[in-house]
Amino acid sequence: MYAPVGVKTSTDYPIPDTMKAWVLGNPGELLLRDKSVPVPKKAEVLVRIDAVAICATDLEIIYYGRPALIGGGMPHNKNFTPGHEYMGTVVALGPAVDEHTIGQRVTVEIHAGCGQCKRCREGMYTACLNYGLNYGDVDKGHRANGFTTDGGFCEYQVNNINTLVAISDDMSDEEATLVVTAGTAMYGLTELGGLVAGESVVVTGPGPIGLLGVAVAKAMGACPVILTGTRDNRLKIGRELGADHVINVRNEEAVKSVHRLNGGKGVDYVLECSGAPNAVNEAIRMVNRGGKVCLAAFPHEETPVDVAHIVRNNIYVYGIRGEGKSATHRAEAFMAQKRFDATRIHTHTFPLEDLPTAIRYAKDRVEDAIKVVVKARGASAHRIAAE
Ligand SMILES: [Zn+2]
Ligand SMILES: [Zn+2]
Repeated sequence: MYAPVGVKTSTDYPIPDTMKAWVLGNPGELLLRDKSVPVPKKAEVLVRIDAVAICATDLEIIYYGRPALIGGGMPHNKNFTPGHEYMGTVVALGPAVDEHTIGQRVTVEIHAGCGQCKRCREGMYTACLNYGLNYGDVDKGHRANGFTTDGGFCEYQVNNINTLVAISDDMSDEEATLVVTAGTAMYGLTELGGLVAGESVVVTGPGPIGLLGVAVAKAMGACPVILTGTRDNRLKIGRELGADHVINVRNEEAVKSVHRLNGGKGVDYVLECSGAPNAVNEAIRMVNRGGKVCLAAFPHEETPVDVAHIVRNNIYVYGIRGEGKSATHRAEAFMAQKRFDATRIHTHTFPLEDLPTAIRYAKDRVEDAIKVVVKARGASAHRIAAE
């Protein structure tokens, strides 16, 4: 039985020594293996994983490797477990941990910074300067679950106490997996961008971050909130999450329509979530002079950008990595207060052992899948459509 020295456990939550864990083999290949249940160290807890959402970045990692970085290199064939958007129950406390209790339901942030570099000291722990330095003799304390350390497609995982967000009992497991996605959108708009009520926002690309970006912007009091995309069913969900206007870029010229819908002028913010080749050039023409463009998507190819337009118009362009400055706590507060219904983007649930099927649903958007969740327990053996 699991009883590591210095670790507090409870008979209410018996923990086995080994667990089922999916590991990444060759590109595109996932294998179900047995692994030891990890042991929490100082300032860490053990989380029993109850639900994990599949993210577009998981698909990138599983099929192409990046942006995961295991032992300083590509993640394939290293017994690495991907998955980063998970929630669960605290079942063991590392030495001296009294910030959390066994049995507490939590959702988790992805990144625990090293806590000692310049960026961590500024609160930008998702941009930790010791990123990925957590292998071999080099242990700077940095963790990015499912990116540089084992993630959530398994039954148990350790998490730094700073990455935990307590959730209320009336928030479902599935909804709790979406907190980190809403937190990422929030970090881009508010903590990095400085969005305040009354400012105008365009979100380009109605994927999960884009759709929850709409919801967060609206909840923050942005006006108007405009969503662009190519699929009417996604744009409809965007409306339900708070978009004042939607633009199907197949039918309308996006830049012109944004100006028309915003009283003939550019907007204050663009949250770019499409990764389309010309997205940056369009975004810098959607914002007003002095406007801000937050880039949240990963385009595959390098693309030319009209730098002169950026310079002449004093436009701010910044990338966002993850969910820094504890933005997840603020996103969870919105969700707990029912300021928006994030579950509108959850479409399917599968048992953990059906992960390859779940991945296929997410990747090929089977049955219009948006957020697909896997659960280690409590999910029946067949798929459950959310609506
Ligand atoms: Zn993600
Ligand atoms: Zn750091």
